[in-house]
Amino acid sequence: MLVKAVIEEGIRSFVEQYRQRGTTETVWEMPVTAYASADDPLFETLKTAVSPTHGSPRELMRHSRTVISYFLPFNHKIARGNRDGNECSRGWALAYVETNALIVDLNNHIASILDSYCYESVLLPPTHNFDTTTLISDWSHKHVAFIAGLGKFGLHRMIITQQGCCGRLGSIITSAPLEPTKRPEGEFCLFFYDGSCLKCVEKCASGALTSERFDRRKCYDVLRANAVVHSGLGYADACGKCVSVVPCSFRNPVNRSTYVPFATGATNKPLI
Ligand code: SF4
Ligand code: SF4
Repeated sequence: MLVKAVIEEGIRSFVEQYRQRGTTETVWEMPVTAYASADDPLFETLKTAVSPTHGSPRELMRHSRTVISYFLPFNHKIARGNRDGNECSRGWALAYVETNALIVDLNNHIASILDSYCYESVLLPPTHNFDTTTLISDWSHKHVAFIAGLGKFGLHRMIITQQGCCGRLGSIITSAPLEPTKRPEGEFCLFFYDGSCLKCVEKCASGALTSERFDRRKCYDVLRANAVVHSGLGYADACGKCVSVVPCSFRNPVNRSTYVPFATGATNKPLI
């Protein structure tokens, strides 16, 4: 019988061996994995929250049962190296490119594990599956991660996991029935928790991110400029300034021991 531990050990050992091959510079921390039911009603809400063309697991695989969502955290040195200046650091840009390649290979590896238990998979690309006019994706790994309970949205529009937000997300749809992860309660972002922090806003030199809104076009212009700067590394349309060395970089910064949910019952809404 397929159990989650088989998948999680498969992900962990693959990432470790990938690093040991010596063909990459990036170092990754321990991956985090979560599971959503393919029938979770939140998937249908993405057609309104994200895009009418956002895919649902059932559309992509009629007999899908589960969506596996995972987060590959970058080694903390990579984020520290991206702390200063306005231009994305070489280390961050390379980690972005190398992790995208890792996700493609890792998805194939997860699919082979699932196949050995006679389950099918649909593999989703790590990125560049968005409309270049609207800049909206037909499969948002961030929203899928939220639905799977992998983390919560931060003000910077990234997913904050228990291992922070400096890394890359991947997801895979499968016919394997696996118990869904319970979505965590409360907020992981200090701004949503008590109105404090705003460090990500301070770090966004382009003005794409404010406490009120996120200008997707301005942000994308920065990503494309960095892709030109780092063109020798592959297509590094990355930035990462708003996540590099802020309170949520490496952990969920809301202190659970003193956590009191908003009296208003505010919930973490998918932000796009
Ligand atoms: S830096 Fe602060 S305000 Fe921004 S997402 Fe992280 S916790 Fe929230
Ligand atoms: S990725 Fe860069 S440009 Fe985009 S919101 Fe974050 S800091 Fe601003």
